[in-house]
Amino acid sequence: MRWQQQILSFPHSSGDYRLRDKFPRLYDIESNKECFIAERWVEDQWVWSWNRSIRCGSRIEHQLMEMLAMLMNVNITDADDKWKWELELDGIFSLPTRMNLAAKDIDIPSVSCPICNNKIESSDHTFFKCDTAVHLWRMVSRWCDLNLPGFDNISSMLSWLESIGV
Ligand SMILES: [Zn+2]
Repeated sequence: MRWQQQILSFPHSSGDYRLRDKFPRLYDIESNKECFIAERWVEDQWVWSWNRSIRCGSRIEHQLMEMLAMLMNVNITDADDKWKWELELDGIFSLPTRMNLAAKDIDIPSVSCPICNNKIESSDHTFFKCDTAVHLWRMVSRWCDLNLPGFDNISSMLSWLESIGV
């Protein structure tokens, strides 16, 4: 994660943004604007390199507190940012769909699918029911010369794969 990289999702916050836009005052005083945030985590503590000092009680200090609170929930690594699918307690993969975000009380403007704007954006909708998904499955079916049935959800796809011995 870098200052100017787009962050897709953060625990307890929504929307696409960059740290640079969210915390502009901090970005202003960052001495190396290209650095990875992970480089500022040294031997189990934050070691920042601001080009001037942060005054107590200033708005910039407030931004720093806010950013630290956010970063507390983030695993810092050297790797590039990527989408991560997490296995939830019930053993089901959870995607940051709008439906899942809303279920986690994350404030989002709409739960509709951003592609068709017609149905709630759930994983089943995104992968199997949205017109675009249906169209993609049809193309896959043609490319692979397979007679794919329409899938409603991941379980129906897995059962079908099992039935054909894949
Ligand atoms: Zn859709």
